[in-house]
Amino acid sequence: MKPLATNKPGFRNALSQWYAKAQRPLPWRTEPSLYRTVVSELMAQQTQIKTMLPYFERWMRRFPDFETLAAAPAGDVLKHWEGLGYYTRARNLHKLAKAYVAMEPKPETREAWQALPGIGPYTSAAIASIAYGLPTAVVDGNVVRILARLTDDSRSFKGNAEAVKAFSPLAEAVLDTRNPGDHNQAMMELGATVCLKNKPLCTVCPVVDFCQARRRGTQDERPRIERKATVKVEIDRAWARRDGQLLLHRISESSGQLAGQYELPKLDQVESLKPARRIASKTRAITHHRIREHIYAVEATATGNPGNNSLHWVPLKDLDRITLSGPHRRWIEEILDWTPDRQRPNLPTHAETENLDR
Ligand code: SF4
Repeated sequence: MKPLATNKPGFRNALSQWYAKAQRPLPWRTEPSLYRTVVSELMAQQTQIKTMLPYFERWMRRFPDFETLAAAPAGDVLKHWEGLGYYTRARNLHKLAKAYVAMEPKPETREAWQALPGIGPYTSAAIASIAYGLPTAVVDGNVVRILARLTDDSRSFKGNAEAVKAFSPLAEAVLDTRNPGDHNQAMMELGATVCLKNKPLCTVCPVVDFCQARRRGTQDERPRIERKATVKVEIDRAWARRDGQLLLHRISESSGQLAGQYELPKLDQVESLKPARRIASKTRAITHHRIREHIYAVEATATGNPGNNSLHWVPLKDLDRITLSGPHRRWIEEILDWTPDRQRPNLPTHAETENLDR
């Protein structure tokens, strides 16, 4: 057993040797650039790597650099984010590109990056270390988990933010300052592929010799972070079609990150000529909310609810031109697939982040 506190160089070596061989060939690693680092870091917030990969590739084809992104229309930017959820990230990335293009001199420190839209302490540390080689440690849930297990830290934290703050000094202490970008990426990779939240793969762990939780059998109890109680939510939605069109609700421009996007309307927004008939039920989770959405086929009046000007009849052939919120595109695709008489629009297939998204 090699306690981390007295064996930092050995820990760094074991981690870096493993990372050199085991790292996944992700596109922002095989073809690195400042822009690709920034986009990948913002996309990876709240989204798993395997989910974001096709989005990243598509994004790079459409917006290959800061200049192209800065000049793009907002609708186009959101359209390329559709399905990833947490659209504030897309809006911030767009604002960031505009600010970056206009800035002189360009930001080159963690502090300067942190002043840009959408860049918090974690992302600024990632950009500073990966793109500029600056010696600063990234600390997120993955890093907290690894460090809490390595040190078998039994402290209880009220939430992730408190845990990140508590483990930041240790993260800085073990950082490989000669190669901080690779060290940080190696920690993230270890958390994503080996030191998993559930069932960590200790038998193949490159730093098992340094892990006190593994020695004591307490890995599954570390870190100790209090979770909010689950809140259950039920939503009824309407499915109304007529003449090759689908009735959708456009979310108001003042409603934050979902502004301007479309979704299936809530059942009570629609006036129906006949009793509603349930055709599907979907469950998803957003943070500590468990949301069950029931979709009802209705025969809507010509305008839906005449008093509701947020409802729109959208031609099915135009569905691929609008931005749909959360997993609504997938639900719509699924239900349309059950309906043989439609003129099938050319919809992209998206891997929705059902457990994270909205
Ligand atoms: Fe995580 Fe297990 Fe490795 Fe410890 S030995 S760091 S618990 S994977």
